[in-house]
Amino acid sequence: MPIATTNPVTGQVLKTYEPMSDEQLDGAIDRADLAYQQLRGTTIDQRGSWLNAAADLLEAERDEIARLMTTEMGKTYAAAKAEVTKCAAACRFYATHAAEFLADQPADAQAVSATRAFVRYQPIGPVLAVMPWNFPLWQVLRFAAPALMAGNTGLLKHASNVPQTALLLEDVFRRAGFPEGAFTTLLVGSEAVEKILGDPRVRAATLTGSEVAGRSIAQIAGRELKKTVLELGGSDPFVVMPSADVELAAEVATTARCQNNGQSCIAAKRFIVHADVYDAFAEAFAHRMSALRIGDPMQDDTDVGPLATERGRDEVDAQVRDAVDKGATVLCGGEKPVGEGWFYPPTVVTDLDPGMRMWAEEVFGPVAGLYRVSSYDEAIELANGTAYGLGSNAWTRDPREQERFATDLEAGAVFVNGMTTSYPELPFGGVRNSGYGRELAAQGMHEFCNTKTVWIGEGTATAGVGAHAE
Ligand code: NAP
Repeated sequence: MPIATTNPVTGQVLKTYEPMSDEQLDGAIDRADLAYQQLRGTTIDQRGSWLNAAADLLEAERDEIARLMTTEMGKTYAAAKAEVTKCAAACRFYATHAAEFLADQPADAQAVSATRAFVRYQPIGPVLAVMPWNFPLWQVLRFAAPALMAGNTGLLKHASNVPQTALLLEDVFRRAGFPEGAFTTLLVGSEAVEKILGDPRVRAATLTGSEVAGRSIAQIAGRELKKTVLELGGSDPFVVMPSADVELAAEVATTARCQNNGQSCIAAKRFIVHADVYDAFAEAFAHRMSALRIGDPMQDDTDVGPLATERGRDEVDAQVRDAVDKGATVLCGGEKPVGEGWFYPPTVVTDLDPGMRMWAEEVFGPVAGLYRVSSYDEAIELANGTAYGLGSNAWTRDPREQERFATDLEAGAVFVNGMTTSYPELPFGGVRNSGYGRELAAQGMHEFCNTKTVWIGEGTATAGVGAHAE
């Protein structure tokens, strides 16, 4: 894939970049390693002041950054501005809470025959971040803010279609005051990942992206014995039970499916509705989906802009065509528009069966699969019936059902009567083919820390000589 900015509204290539040479790459890794030696010796307060300065820059330059993101990948300008604001807030969150998350955790010294025992969190070194284009700022920030606060350095290999946002991120961290090399953007294609991860100076990797990329990186990291965090795809269920407020559920379902032009890993993708409220939900949902305004993402009244790439739009269209050819029913949308730009209309498809691609695959565009079920058990079976397990939603006002959904949905998150979203305060990640490890909250920060056990004895003859082999 060429490293280039291509406007999805016009298909016009606006700027291209040559990939870094081997020498440039080697120099960048070297600087990240040197910066790590420096950063690990700084105080949390110092790193926090740099991160707060990064937040100030993001806030001051919000509109310009947002315009760039919209140009590179087509999200609405309003959504892009909200993304920048969220990133600034996450920087401030980690600047404020890092001291608490990184504090030594005391253990029961007596139980382990020590005078003192505790856990200390320490940085591990340069971390490679392979990132997707769909939230080009947020996906990176939610890795970088905790990693830098912990004293690690970051090497970003961003998606090839958002190079200017990638370079802007490096610039923001540098201007915020972080040492040279603390955060570096590597302008390279995905074929360079094997070499970078194989480099002994690089200690770990985090990937947010597709299952295919996840398997590839996990394989390389396994060979190199390096830690990975994988945030992969999802086909989140959105279950609506009879006690739900159906109108509200349909309203939130529309946003949950179409936010970011339908290209979110935690977008609700499969709408599983109890028969008692199915007709009312289907009508309200299809009505709301078809009322969304498609168009220029820079315009204030646009709800849904183009998909980010032509290949992505073709894939979504092929998944819908496959379902329709095999007998599915389209309630709204479903036709790829002719003309300029990679637009696709909000679409609701029903009468799906397991022989159709949409049943099991992730659909990365504004297309909803709608399913009718007749019981709680049937809803759970269908909800858990893909290989994924990222987010999940359940709509019910029955307290007993709420508890059951929280336990029974096999996913990294369960949101009841609300839309799945990410917060700096809550851990984020998946199970099964949606990946492993967690980002955000204290858990996200600890992923790239050495969780070090410290045992201190008296230093006398009787203490410290363990009777056990291990
Ligand atoms: P993708 O093709 O996997 O790309 C993501 C990143 O991985 C890009 O930087 C890409 O580089 C790189 N990459 C691709 N193939 C690779 C390989 N074989 N080895 C190493 N790196 C590789 O993903 P996408 O289709 O653009 O993004 C959408 C996917 O990301 C969806 O499945 C979505 O659900 C998932 N996602 C997950 C989360 C989450 O938090 N769980 C969040 C957002 C998106 P190039 O651009 O140079 O190819």
